[in-house]
Amino acid sequence: MIPVTKPFLPKAKEYDDYLHSIWERQWLTNNGPLVNEFELKLKNYLGLEHLLYVSNGTVALQIAIKALDLKGEIITTPFSFVATTSSIVWEGCKPVFTDIDPETFNIDPEKIEAAITPNTSAILATHVYGNPCDIDAIQTIADRHHLKVIFDAAHCFGTKYKGKSVFEYGDISTTSFHATKLFHSIEGGAVFTRKPELLKKMAFMRNFGHNGQEDYSELGINGKNSEFHAAMGLCNLKYVDEILKRRKLLSLYYIQKLSNLKASFPKHNGDFSSNYAYFPVLFDTKELMLKCLSDLETEKIYCRRYFFPSLSNLPYVQKTSLPVCDSIVERIICLPLYHTLTYSDLDLITRIILRAQNYEVQVPSRIEEDIAELLETALVVNKSK
Ligand SMILES: *Cc1c(COP(=O)(O)O)cnc(C)c1O
Repeated sequence: MIPVTKPFLPKAKEYDDYLHSIWERQWLTNNGPLVNEFELKLKNYLGLEHLLYVSNGTVALQIAIKALDLKGEIITTPFSFVATTSSIVWEGCKPVFTDIDPETFNIDPEKIEAAITPNTSAILATHVYGNPCDIDAIQTIADRHHLKVIFDAAHCFGTKYKGKSVFEYGDISTTSFHATKLFHSIEGGAVFTRKPELLKKMAFMRNFGHNGQEDYSELGINGKNSEFHAAMGLCNLKYVDEILKRRKLLSLYYIQKLSNLKASFPKHNGDFSSNYAYFPVLFDTKELMLKCLSDLETEKIYCRRYFFPSLSNLPYVQKTSLPVCDSIVERIICLPLYHTLTYSDLDLITRIILRAQNYEVQVPSRIEEDIAELLETALVVNKSK
C-alpha cells in the first residue's frame, strides 16, 4: 500500500530521551522548557526573530483573525484546505472568494480589487503547495485599500521568498505542524508577525488572555501546546534538511518520468526556493485524472484530490462560480510524496499513470485505423469496378 503521505518518525530512542526528561521534571504543558527550546530552535532554523508555537494551524488562523480584529468580509482563495475558509466563518466574518491564477493555483491578485467593498477588512491567502503567492502585488493592493493581510503558510515550512522565510510576510503568517505536513510535531502550528504589539496580543490570546495569574489583558483561547508535542518537534527538526532533500529528489524524478504526460505542474513565482511539500499534477482532462486515480487505487496506491471541492462550494458559504478554480479542482490530484518512498515506487506509480494515458489515446487511434482500413477496402472495390 502506498498512501499519499506518511508522517516522519524519528528514532524511538530520541523521543524516549525527551520523555524521560519530562518525567523527571513533571512539567507537562503551559509554556514548559521543551516548548521554549522548540520555539528558540525553530527561530534559529527559520532565521526569524519571533514566533509563537500554538496547538494547531487552525487555531493559528483563528488567533490571527481575532488579533487583527477583523470584521465583515475577508477576501480569500477558494483553492486551499477547508480550515482557511472555516476559520473565517468561525470568527464571524464572511469569506468572499476570488478566482485563482491558472498557473500558480494561488489567489489571482488581479481579481482581488474588484471584490473589495466598504465591508472588506482583510485578504487571507494561502501559499498553495508551498508556492508563495504574488506577495508584493497582494500587499500593494492591501496598502492601497487599508486592508490587513494574513498568509496561510501551512504548506511552507522551509520555503524562502526573496531570500527570507516566507513566514515573514503579511501582517500575520500562520503555519501548521500537523503530522501530514513535511515538518511536524504531531499536532501543532505557529503564528508569525514582525509587529511587537500584535505578537504580545497573540501571546496573551494563546493563553486564555492571562496576564499574570489573576489578570486578563485580552479575550483569549487555549492555543497552547504541550511538552510532548514540542519534544516531537525537537526530534524532527534534526531531520528536516534530510527530509527536504529527499522530497526534492523524488519530485525531480517524478517530473522527469512524467514529461510526456498530458498534464502540467504548478508554475512558481520567481525568486523562491521550493520545499516540495506536495506533488500536484493537473491533468488536461478530468477523464484522464479519474482513470489514473482508479488505476492507481486498483494497485493500492492512494492519491488525494487536493483540493476538491472548491471551498466556494462549502455548505456554509455563499456559492460563487469561479471558472479557473472550478476547472482546476476537477482535474488535479497530489501523487504520493514522503521521505521513505523509493525510486522503484515512483517507477511503478508513473508506469500506471502513463499506461492510463496510452490506453486513452489508443482507443480512438485504433478506431481510426479501422476506418482507414474500411476506406481502403472501399477504394479497392471501387477501382476494380
Ligand atoms: C493543514 C492546513 C491547515 C490546518 O492546520 P491544522 O494544524 O491541521 O489545524 C490550514 N491551512 C492549510 C492550507 C493546511 O494545509
